[in-house]
Amino acid sequence: MSAKQWVYGFGGGESGGDASLKSLLGGKGANLAEMARLDLPVPPGFTLTTEVCNAFYANNRAYPPELSGQVDAALAALEKKTGKAFGNPANPLLVSVRSGARASMPGMMDTVLNLGLNDETVEGLAKLSGDARFAYDSYRRFIQMYSDVVLELEHGVFEEILGSHKDTNDYRADTELTADDWKIVVAEYKRAVERELGKPFPNDPKEQLWGAVGAVFSSWMNDRAIFYRKHNNIPESWGTAVNVQAMVFGNMGETSATGVAFTRDPSTGDKKFYGEFLINAQGEDVVAGIRTPKALTKASRLEMKEPGESLEEAMPEVYAELVRVYQKLEAHYRDMQDLEFTVERGKLYMLQTRNGKRTAKAALKIAVDMAAEGLITQDEAVLRVDAAALDQLLHPTIAAGYKRDIICKGLPASPGAAVGKVVFDADEAEKLAADGVDVILVRDETSPEDIHGMHASKAIVTARGGMTSHAAVVARGMGRPCVSGAGDVRIDMKLGEFRALGRVIKKGDVITVDGSSGEVLLGAAEMVQPELTGDFGTLMGWADKARRMKVRANAETPADAATAVKYGAEGIGLCRTEHMFFDAERIAAVREMILAEKQSARVAALDKLFPHQRADFVAIFEAMGARPVTIRYLDPPLHEFLPHTEEDCADVAKATGLDAKALLARSKDLAESNPMLGFRGCRLAIVFPEIYDMQSRAVFEAACDVAEQGAAPIPEIMIPFVIAKKEFELLKARVDAIAEEVFAKRGRRVEYLVGTMIELPRAALKAGEIAEAAEFFSFGTNDLTQTTMGLSRDDAGKFLGTYVDRGVLATDPFVTVDADGVGELVGLACERGRAVRQGLKLGVCGEHGGDPASVAFFERAGLDYVSCSPYRVPIARLAAAQAALGGKR
Ligand code: PEP
Ligand code: MG
Repeated sequence: MSAKQWVYGFGGGESGGDASLKSLLGGKGANLAEMARLDLPVPPGFTLTTEVCNAFYANNRAYPPELSGQVDAALAALEKKTGKAFGNPANPLLVSVRSGARASMPGMMDTVLNLGLNDETVEGLAKLSGDARFAYDSYRRFIQMYSDVVLELEHGVFEEILGSHKDTNDYRADTELTADDWKIVVAEYKRAVERELGKPFPNDPKEQLWGAVGAVFSSWMNDRAIFYRKHNNIPESWGTAVNVQAMVFGNMGETSATGVAFTRDPSTGDKKFYGEFLINAQGEDVVAGIRTPKALTKASRLEMKEPGESLEEAMPEVYAELVRVYQKLEAHYRDMQDLEFTVERGKLYMLQTRNGKRTAKAALKIAVDMAAEGLITQDEAVLRVDAAALDQLLHPTIAAGYKRDIICKGLPASPGAAVGKVVFDADEAEKLAADGVDVILVRDETSPEDIHGMHASKAIVTARGGMTSHAAVVARGMGRPCVSGAGDVRIDMKLGEFRALGRVIKKGDVITVDGSSGEVLLGAAEMVQPELTGDFGTLMGWADKARRMKVRANAETPADAATAVKYGAEGIGLCRTEHMFFDAERIAAVREMILAEKQSARVAALDKLFPHQRADFVAIFEAMGARPVTIRYLDPPLHEFLPHTEEDCADVAKATGLDAKALLARSKDLAESNPMLGFRGCRLAIVFPEIYDMQSRAVFEAACDVAEQGAAPIPEIMIPFVIAKKEFELLKARVDAIAEEVFAKRGRRVEYLVGTMIELPRAALKAGEIAEAAEFFSFGTNDLTQTTMGLSRDDAGKFLGTYVDRGVLATDPFVTVDADGVGELVGLACERGRAVRQGLKLGVCGEHGGDPASVAFFERAGLDYVSCSPYRVPIARLAAAQAALGGKR
């Protein structure tokens, strides 16, 4: 049996590997091999595979026995290809040693350049390059880098030596040091290594190589790499490869250069070659920002009004070659590439190619353009755009490059950005907005009584609350940017100010809220308006063709319903009727209903609400046309509608004519230790059936009204918080009875369904029984997550971050559905429900309906639709298409 291949050579006519071996060779190694295979100018080298890394860790940091022989052979081949030799002063081979995992982990692991230099080969490099200063500068960089990465020596030691040499000679910049200066510095560096470590700096290039290889493999387990992997879901088992590659130098004079390029513009997506370069420089000089790099093309140099020459003008032949290479690479990889190149004495070398990172706008344009060019299919284009990043295109955002003066940070509860003046009170927000002032409502937390103020505000900030807190849910529904749970904010209503991290912000001060990042900034930031260009519509059209699940919206006002339709919603999946109760006029009747001691008084109060509810439903049915509208009956605990403090009760009593004492007493009476698990949802209707009766009458009257005008409304009545079949049956019987009553009176029928939310573990477990009576299920994953995990949706934000950081939970379960636990209940309920009722309609209306990772789970679970806030509808459409196509690339 032949020994396992641990080392793959590339370049110089050899093509041991290719891009298909990415998991074995790592991203960098596979792409270098692929470029070499395509006959592109790649400095030759070899790759130690990710399997070596895994074997290294499995065997107590020891290499497989065959490795050393295979490395010797690869090195001999490399010497042959380059015509240079390791350690040969006459013609020294110098190499770079770099990490390269399957997924790019920029800057997380170690690199060593110029390896192979020692007291003898440095002379050879000086002679060959004709530049002793360059040779000794390279040598001292190598000693520094190697000592840091491999020998783990504090780099302060070297900085001190260099600093004192500069002081003695009265030099300010490193560029003032001559070849002789660097010689002295190198000698001092080496003495320092020996002093600090008790042994000399390794002179033998082979010893240097094994030291560097070991350091790179070890860096797979450094803290930075572990942290990065955890945050980017990169498994430890992937391991890293090590790439050993012949060095080429961009700093060998005026005919040498180095640069980076993108095959299309990474910020706009425009199809134009884009990049920067520096003459007589090394890669790190381009990124370090000491010298300003120049544009590659003449056109962009002129556009930027840069002095000097572009690469196109300075090195026309090299530029022509680079154009040929980039076009070949883009066509080959069928994606926008991010390239690194070096020119050594007029010859172009490619050092790297990979799929380039890009903004959401560029991703969209590139995907649509490439499909139009025939480079990729429409389905591939759909898979190329990150669904979550579409958010950036749907809301105004803060201009890239704007310098942010951050006051505080909270949760990115509702995306987009807005500028306005700080207010602390909902009524005041409404008043100022009516006068045309842009305001931002800042509160400890919001309650249903703040809805009008939230509506009037451009954005909302709360000191408390998580991603499914009242503020977050309502703001997302309204499309207002919101930062929730900004824990550093301390509001002082009396002084009319808030403090955060030592700063004081007064009422009326202008701030900017970035609901996409969770930041609150001082002053008015520069904004960019969303552009729903043709490309956006084109891509969404392709997504709609590819998806299986329908997408609905959570909406309760005609305006939100219209927005939802504009963004492509195919129905309403959740109309939270309690949100229709908060209007000033209505809330008085709601309070009257709650205060009623007798059923007759309760019915009288409900009669006052009835015309409003009917008018609301008429408007929503009209906005939705022949699309289904899921109407969720009253859900929250009643005390949420009452004022709580004595002072508030007195205010409300004065405004409404209700009795202040009675209000306070009833508020206390209704207060519960666990309101989320209390007298809410359908429990309210089991005890006070007249509430849902009024809602049923309003729904069916409205449906008949609209039907009379020739429309075809499709009401789907949804009972919340059900735990048992009997409970649902009792309520459905009343809905059906009222429907019949209304239909008889109106002399027409309207098709409707009565279904239930599955938002409690018992409902999921008893789904088989419940489905005998319920005509559809909609998963309320907010409450299902809260009750399955025993985590309060309003408070858990305080510690969930730590849970995610410590790896207890992979993600915040209120953002991405907990597929393992909560998801298991969802799957089980689907199975049990459909076993009883074939084709049972299944949807989800919790906040997870707009989260791409959750949407992928719901596709696997076989749901018929997801429902999310109107502004997330395009994200859900794209995510559903990607899930149907088998997941993101
Ligand atoms: C849910 O619990 O997921 C749900 C949609 O209902 P609400 O958020 O109104 O409790
Ligand atoms: Mg719920």
